[in-house]
Amino acid sequence: MSAIPDEFHLIAEKISAEIKAGNSVAALQSAAVGFPGQVVFSSSLGKEDQVLTEMIATAGLAQKIEIFSLDTGRLFEETQYLLNLTNKAYSLKIKVYFPEAGDVETLVREKGSYSFFDSVENRKECCFIRKVKPLKRALQNQKIWVTGIRAAQSTGRAEMLPVELDEDHNVLKIHPLFYFTDEELESYIQEHSVPVNELHKKNYPSIGCAPCTSPVKPGDDPRSGRWWWEQNTGRECGLHAAN
Ligand code: SF4
Repeated sequence: MSAIPDEFHLIAEKISAEIKAGNSVAALQSAAVGFPGQVVFSSSLGKEDQVLTEMIATAGLAQKIEIFSLDTGRLFEETQYLLNLTNKAYSLKIKVYFPEAGDVETLVREKGSYSFFDSVENRKECCFIRKVKPLKRALQNQKIWVTGIRAAQSTGRAEMLPVELDEDHNVLKIHPLFYFTDEELESYIQEHSVPVNELHKKNYPSIGCAPCTSPVKPGDDPRSGRWWWEQNTGRECGLHAAN
C-alpha cells in the first residue's frame, strides 16, 4: 500500500482487512464514517451492484453513501426498469448522470449513432463521452468510490486489489465484494430477494449498453458479450482505467 497517500493510509488498511474477512457491510460503514459526505457508489445495476445497493439500504447507509448511476442514453429498457424498481424497493433516489448534450449531438452528427462498430478508437470515444466524462463529474470532490468489482469477473479484475488508489480521480476505490465467488453472489441474491435485471435470465451475465452487449453461451467468459465484435480489447470501457 505504499502508493496510497497518508490521508487514506489508515482507512485503506482497515477497509482492506474487512473486505478480506468477508465483511462487506463493515467496509461500507468504515468508508462512511471515515469520510462523511464524500463517499459515492457507482451502480450499473448489475448483480454485484444490486447486492451492494441492498447492503447500503438495509444497513441504513443510504444517507451517507450516495448511490449514482450513469445513463448513457443507450441502455436496455430492462435496465431502466430495474433502476425504477430498485428505487421503489429500497426507498431510494439513485442519482442519475447523463452525458453532456452537446457532446452527444456532435458525435451523432459527425459519426452517426453506431460509430462504435467502426473502430476501437470510435468505441472508446463513445464510452468517453457517454460514461467517462459523466463519471468524472460524479467523482468530483469525493474521497471514496465504492464499486461492485469482483476478482472472479475476469482475469484482469483478478489482478486488482480490494482497495486501491484511483490516481485519475484522486479517490480511494474500494470493492467490498471483491472476494465474493459466483455462488456466494447468487446465494446472497436469493436469500435477500435482491431485484436483478430480467436480462440475466436470457444469458446476459454482464449488461452494458444495448447495442454493445450480446448474450453469451453457457461457460463462456461472462464479459465476452460486452463489445462482442472486438478482439482482445480487455472488455473494459475506461471507467476502471487501471485494468
Ligand atoms: S458501451 Fe457502446 S453505446 Fe455505450 S458508451 Fe460505450 S460504445 Fe457507446
